[in-house]
Amino acid sequence: METELQNKSVYFLRNTMYINVTNLCSNNCLFCIRNFNDEVAGVNLWLAEENIAAGKIIEEIKENSPESRDEIVFCGYGEPLIKIDIVREIAKFIKDNYPNIPVRVNSNGHANLIHKRDVVPELTGLIDAISISLNADNADLYQILSRTCFDKELAFEGVKNFAEECQKYGIDTTLTVVMGFEDYKIDLKKCREIAKSLGVKFKIREWLSDGYV
Ligand code: SF4
Repeated sequence: METELQNKSVYFLRNTMYINVTNLCSNNCLFCIRNFNDEVAGVNLWLAEENIAAGKIIEEIKENSPESRDEIVFCGYGEPLIKIDIVREIAKFIKDNYPNIPVRVNSNGHANLIHKRDVVPELTGLIDAISISLNADNADLYQILSRTCFDKELAFEGVKNFAEECQKYGIDTTLTVVMGFEDYKIDLKKCREIAKSLGVKFKIREWLSDGYV
């Protein structure tokens, strides 16, 4: 359902500012909150317009006291790095004007597969941290949970390679899994080992029908 809040890209959870730049995603995860809710924190995250200009989103950011936020995070109902040029332009605005506010991207880790090049160098200096959805300890389970448009092995390896590359370029990188969604058995020990072998952090997110933390 279309609502007047649908054209907003900025929303808040606690004192973190979230920026939603796209409805598009290369996954269709079983547990994605967009399958259960149209809104998060009072904002309908289904964007009415897919091609929102970075300038329009920057205006929204400026209206919402970015200087007083704990963190600014690119995260919404799609994969932010599909719109890498918009993410870069907005992140540069934040870094130029509010250099003390940390900037993070929540990503499915497919950016290099989507753009068919290594985009990580394009993000250095613009984002401080990235959370990347590992989702599973093997490619078969990854595909069951993530329903990616890519070949499952390519996607699962791609996520791991992307995480390693981000860390190599100095971006504080965390691999994540979502626990508590139905009865899927994810081997957390193996996931932890994968993260360790790549030199990145690991975090378990708890699934809730109105979002996961
Ligand atoms: S990668 Fe994220 S946005 Fe895309 S379907 Fe999965 S949970 Fe939703």
